[in-house]
Amino acid sequence: MKSDRHILVIGGGAIGLLTARELASAGAQVTVLERGQPGRESSWAGGGIVSPLFPWRYLDSITALASWSQARYPEVCAQLARDTGIDPEFTVNGMLMVAEDEVDTALNWAARHQRRLETVDATTFRELEPAAAHPPGTGLWMPEIGQLRNPRLLAALLADVQARGVTLRSETPVSGLRMRNGVCRGVTTPQGHVEADQVIVCAGAWSGELLSDLPTPPAVRPVRGQMLLFQTPPGTISRIVLEDQRYIIPRRDGHVLFGSSMEEVGFDKSTTEAMREELLALVHARFPVMREAPLVKHWAGLRPGSPAGVPYIAAHPEIPGLYVNAGQFRNGIVIGLASARLAADLVLERPPILNPTPYGWNAPRG
Ligand SMILES: Cc1cc2nc3c(=O)[nH]c(=O)nc-3n(C[C@H](O)[C@H](O)[C@H](O)COP(=O)(O)OP(=O)(O)OC[C@H]3O[C@@H](n4cnc5c(N)ncnc54)[C@H](O)[C@@H]3O)c2cc1C
Repeated sequence: MKSDRHILVIGGGAIGLLTARELASAGAQVTVLERGQPGRESSWAGGGIVSPLFPWRYLDSITALASWSQARYPEVCAQLARDTGIDPEFTVNGMLMVAEDEVDTALNWAARHQRRLETVDATTFRELEPAAAHPPGTGLWMPEIGQLRNPRLLAALLADVQARGVTLRSETPVSGLRMRNGVCRGVTTPQGHVEADQVIVCAGAWSGELLSDLPTPPAVRPVRGQMLLFQTPPGTISRIVLEDQRYIIPRRDGHVLFGSSMEEVGFDKSTTEAMREELLALVHARFPVMREAPLVKHWAGLRPGSPAGVPYIAAHPEIPGLYVNAGQFRNGIVIGLASARLAADLVLERPPILNPTPYGWNAPRG
């Protein structure tokens, strides 16, 4: 049922589009304001692993969002493929990890959260990923982990939200909030004011900067990640493999991603020769077969970094009408579905899917 409530979503990345999708599905009138073109920033640049890296290293508040989303990704991607004709290619090919010092911690975490996580010896590691040059004595294996292709997810989401009646305004940078009697009633853009009943900021790495006039803006900052893309014959690499914060991701069609860097360089989104060489040396050492693979692309994206990676999914404590859903850091895809649903629950004053306290505007993080 359509409601009279008009909600502005600021930012057309994965978080903004997923949030708009939830709100529109509940009957709200939704407009997404996007500074550039939707889905071209961090959400486009990411690897699309539908799991936190080394998931036991995260707080339970991240695991809760990840678990909720992971249970729903297969169905959501199938729906998007069916309804939009754009398949995000959600694929379960499992995640192998090298973290020999953390085996006990990982197993305890998996038992506590009822996740499938197994130890594998070097022979099994090699069977699972024959291209890995140096299988560890004991590896960790999560066979149920999936991945998706970010540009396809974004294109499908864009088509999906428009089919649900969401208005999308590209090339519309928001420069500030419009306040009336202490209540947020819209935003300011170079094209004029846009009025609304509620505003939810989903501006990724730019969310802290956009809200920097508030006494307590969310502590969201850009963290650059550089990524390499190769072309290989399909099947050259079989699994997602993680080691020392670097990972390889094989796509169905033989494209292979290797990344990514973690750089605190402000809003500088350029790629560097030095990081290209570093990533190339690592991928060649760990997967010698990749020496034959042509490098087809090198890019960088700005993750929305936050303390301990805990996102801000909250109503402003003192400004009615103002909400935030940002700071998903390295996990915006895997925790995106739950973040969007929780944000919509708060905006629409529905019972929340999860306890929202850890993601509060002023909640302690880490
Ligand atoms: C190299 C790399 C690898 C990654 N790998 C993974 C992974 O494997 N799995 C995973 O789960 N996550 C991964 N991530 C993290 C994930 O991509 C991010 O957490 C997620 O994309 C954040 O989504 P977002 O919508 O908040 O931000 P963005 O996609 O950056 O979108 C924010 C949008 O807001 C717009 N905007 C900003 N300011 C304004 C304004 N003033 N007015 C209007 N619009 C504005 C921007 O133009 C942008 O389109 C990775 C990230 C990178 C960079």
